[in-house]
Amino acid sequence: MIPFFNTLDFAKTLDASDDISQFRQKFHFPKLNGEQAIYLTGNSLGLQPITATMALNQEMTDWQNFGVEGHFHGKNPWMHYHKFLAQSAANIVGALPHEVVVMNNLTVNLHLMLVSFYTPTPTRYKIIMEAGAFPSDQYAIESQVKFHGFLPNDAIIEIEPREGEYHLRTEDILAVIDEHANETALIMFSGVQYYTGQAFDMETIARAGHASGIKVGFDLAHAAGNIRLQLHDWNVDFAVWCGYKYLNSGPGGVSGVFIHEKYANDPTLPRFAGWWGHKESERFQMKKGFIPEYGAAGWQLSNAPVLSMSVHNAALKLFDEAGMEALTKKSKTLTAYLQFVIEESKLNLNIITPAEQRGCQLSILTNSDGKALFMHLQNNGIIADWREPNVIRMAPVPLYNSFEDVFKVGEILRSYRL
Ligand SMILES: *Cc1c(COP(=O)(O)O)cnc(C)c1O
Repeated sequence: MIPFFNTLDFAKTLDASDDISQFRQKFHFPKLNGEQAIYLTGNSLGLQPITATMALNQEMTDWQNFGVEGHFHGKNPWMHYHKFLAQSAANIVGALPHEVVVMNNLTVNLHLMLVSFYTPTPTRYKIIMEAGAFPSDQYAIESQVKFHGFLPNDAIIEIEPREGEYHLRTEDILAVIDEHANETALIMFSGVQYYTGQAFDMETIARAGHASGIKVGFDLAHAAGNIRLQLHDWNVDFAVWCGYKYLNSGPGGVSGVFIHEKYANDPTLPRFAGWWGHKESERFQMKKGFIPEYGAAGWQLSNAPVLSMSVHNAALKLFDEAGMEALTKKSKTLTAYLQFVIEESKLNLNIITPAEQRGCQLSILTNSDGKALFMHLQNNGIIADWREPNVIRMAPVPLYNSFEDVFKVGEILRSYRL
């Protein structure tokens, strides 16, 4: 990696040689204190693509003009709307188009996947997960375990970092899998941990799980659109993610689901069914007896939420244009530069995100006056994110953040003195 310099000129040079810098112009930036904010919370809610309004208006107009006939005669016939997103969503997670479907919201999809892939027996019923997982995932898993008649304290195995450490070592994850190989039904991890920013070695975890006959799923809420994913090749059983974080598809936006091709036509998996997942050629025969559509589409319940999906579609187009390869390449340099300016600030800050296992987010452990530092950032036009008890999360997003943004963060950090 090139040597970094803490100067505005240097940051501008990096921006000038950034071949995807033009994407910044394709987003609306919020204002803070009357000025365009330095936005570092794309890990929480991505910015609005300028094309989103047009995409949404197209569907509103078709609804005005066609009413129910919009299902067939709209510009993008609603009848097939989920299909318009499959290829782009598949590109994000490294999947085949029929392994991916966009539907519902994230936690709903997590439950649907647990119904299909957490099928405990009296002897093999445990779930291995990281300790401190996002609360919704904890609650989903806890309630599923209870639903099957097991006790969460017994059935859920949470892996904690070693004493004095903040992230998990892959060797420790593998040791726990090994220890519980015969009694575990499912390994359920996040792809990128929301609090620490650690990117787990999903391929290794999937391989270890499968070697012991365990199903392996991932919550990619903080991974989709952030790091390179190869879900098909990694042989992951299933994954879920949301559209509104790195994928910029609006608050409460639709979620994506990956189900490996090996289950595309598997009638033995239990599933909760709905009419939109029924074999498409016969969906409108309205007959008794559910026959699933081939692939991930067979897990759909309801007809597509077109308004929300239209925004998601517009947002995904930008990822197709930029490409995950270019995005992750820029991301590595941009995030390393953020680490550099944080270290140059000489504040008492500890980055707990492992440098060799991360996407663009840095989680910064602050000392006792962390909240005051956070307020200082906010008062100076930075939108970052505070997590109790003492972590500031910053995510320079390669699609719309610049090296100049990052340089300014360093400048504002250096101006902080009590
Ligand atoms: C953001 C996030 C969620 C949010 O779930 P919703 O159903 O979209 O509200 C769940 N899990 C993880 C890991 C997240 O990061």
